[in-house]
Amino acid sequence: MPQQRPKVVIVGAGFGGLEAAKALSRVTVDVTVIDRQNHHCFQPLLYQVATAALSPAEIAWPIRHMLRQQRNATVFMAEVEAIDLAARFVQTGAGPFSYDYLVLATGATHSYFGHDEWAEFAPGLKRIEDATRIRRSILLAFERAELAGDDTERQRLLTPARRWPRTFAGSTRAVRASFCSRRVRASCRPCPRIFRAMQSARSPAWAWM
Ligand SMILES: Cc1cc2nc3c(=O)[nH]c(=O)nc-3n(C[C@H](O)[C@H](O)[C@H](O)COP(=O)(O)OP(=O)(O)OC[C@H]3O[C@@H](n4cnc5c(N)ncnc54)[C@H](O)[C@@H]3O)c2cc1C
Repeated sequence: MPQQRPKVVIVGAGFGGLEAAKALSRVTVDVTVIDRQNHHCFQPLLYQVATAALSPAEIAWPIRHMLRQQRNATVFMAEVEAIDLAARFVQTGAGPFSYDYLVLATGATHSYFGHDEWAEFAPGLKRIEDATRIRRSILLAFERAELAGDDTERQRLLTPARRWPRTFAGSTRAVRASFCSRRVRASCRPCPRIFRAMQSARSPAWAWM
């Protein structure tokens, strides 16, 4: 009887999970990659999606497609809800997956240090959905500024610290916000007449950070 190959379950198809799967491509094991999304998200480019410089499809790739050449790998979309270490299986919404070896590569999440009420004003930026929500908030503020009846209201709408969610917090806030500012400017400059309110010389939107 042919011996069963060891089963490796990898939870998460971010950078870590994908690299682990690829490293096992020539090993005699069966690899199962489980992710709650069916796509890999290139997180370093989330800022560009949040500032409308890129579309979501430009930073997301189907996990199946990325691993299509790897014959020992199978991909499933499912959320892992629990792990039974003693019985060696992961519990998902789509049922259990047993393993001989388990790789947990589920990434990290942001923390509000006990102040979850800040989430409304400083949403995280880890997923495509986060980026499109921020993008909507920025573009809607521009749209409302175009419609504003007076300069004070326009200024208020174009001042992110007052009007928009303070998305970027922590030690990297300055870097991220200035990056965001540059991206928004770059997005608007090639078509200077798209947002006329943005062209007003003293618009605070030009002076983020
Ligand atoms: C906005 C932003 C900009 C960044 N810029 C840079 C940069 O310029 N340079 C740099 O080096 N790094 C950068 N990073 C950090 C880098 O992107 C991360 O360190 C890296 O993506 C982490 O990879 P990971 O595989 O550990 O986790 P992730 O990429 O987060 O992948 C985790 C995967 O696990 C899945 N998952 C989570 N929980 C479950 C579950 N319960 N069941 C099933 N699946 C699950 C998720 O869907 C996800 O696909 C940036 C990160 C962000 C958010």
